[in-house]
Amino acid sequence: MIIAIDNNSGFCFGVSSAVRKAEEALMKKNQLYCLGDIVHNESEVERLSKMGLITIDHDRFFTMKDATVFLRAHGEPPSTYAYARQNNIELIDATCPIVLKLQQRIRSGYESGKDKGTQVVIFGKKGHAEVNGLVGQTDSQAIVIESSAEIDQIDLDRPIELYAQTTKELDGFHLLADALERIANQASLKIHDTICRQVSNRIPGIKEFSHLYSLIIFVSGLKSSNGKMLFDICKTENPNSKFISSIEELDEQWFKEVDSVGICGATSTPRKLLEDVANAIWLLEIKNNGAF
Ligand code: SF4
Repeated sequence: MIIAIDNNSGFCFGVSSAVRKAEEALMKKNQLYCLGDIVHNESEVERLSKMGLITIDHDRFFTMKDATVFLRAHGEPPSTYAYARQNNIELIDATCPIVLKLQQRIRSGYESGKDKGTQVVIFGKKGHAEVNGLVGQTDSQAIVIESSAEIDQIDLDRPIELYAQTTKELDGFHLLADALERIANQASLKIHDTICRQVSNRIPGIKEFSHLYSLIIFVSGLKSSNGKMLFDICKTENPNSKFISSIEELDEQWFKEVDSVGICGATSTPRKLLEDVANAIWLLEIKNNGAF
C-alpha cells in the first residue's frame, strides 16, 4: 500500500514561529502561562505542557498579577494588554505578524470612519480567539457575520468596511463581497480581502492531493477552524476521507480495501504527528498482511 504525506500540510508560518518562541521561553523558565491553547491541536498542547506550558483561560488571566503570560498567534484585544500593564504581567507576545497587521488595519478603519458612522464588518467565526482580538480593535462595535445569509445584520444605509478573519475560506468571502456589491451603496463600501494565503493557497493543493489516493486521513485538532474547512474540501473531493485528532482514532477497517492512503492536515497540525500517523498506518498494514 502507498502511504504518502502531503508536503504542504503542517504548521503555517505564524504557528510555527509561536511554538518556537514558546520553546525558547521554556528553556529559560521552567513554567510559563499561555492564554488559550497555543495551537488548536491537542497533542502539541500536551507536548508543550510537559515542557512546562500551563494553558489558562481569560477568566483566570483577569485574576492574575505579577506573572509572565504567553500570547499565541491568534492575537488578543487591547483589553488584554491594558490588564497586563496594570497588573505587572509580562507578556511574551507571539501574535502572528499577519494578524497584528490586520488588527492595525481594522483599528485604523474604525477610528477614521467613526464620524461617518462606518460599520466594521468581519467575516469570521463568532467567539473565535482571532475574531475576538479583531472586534476588540473597534471597542466591540464590529459586526461579525459567518456567512452571506447573515447580511441583514448590516445597515445598508451606512458606510461599510468589510474584513475577513485570516483563516476563512475565500469562496465564502467572495460570495459575501459580491452580495454587498449588489445591494450596498458602492461609494461607501470598502472590501478588504484579508484572508491569509498560508491557508487559502493550500486549497488547490489539497484538492489535487485528495484525488491521488483511495483513502484520505485528515489530521487536525477539533477546535481548528481551518482544519474543519480543509477537511470539508477533502471530503467533497474524495468521499473516502476520514478526520482524526489522534492516532488512537485510526480504525483498522478503513485500510482493508484500499491501495493508497494520503495523509494531510491543518495549519495547526504538527508535521511530527502526520509522520506518526503514517508510521501507525504502516504498522497496521504489516499486521493486516500477517507479516507479524
Ligand atoms: S494562518 Fe496565516 S495569519 Fe493565521 S497564524 Fe498562520 S500565518 Fe498567521
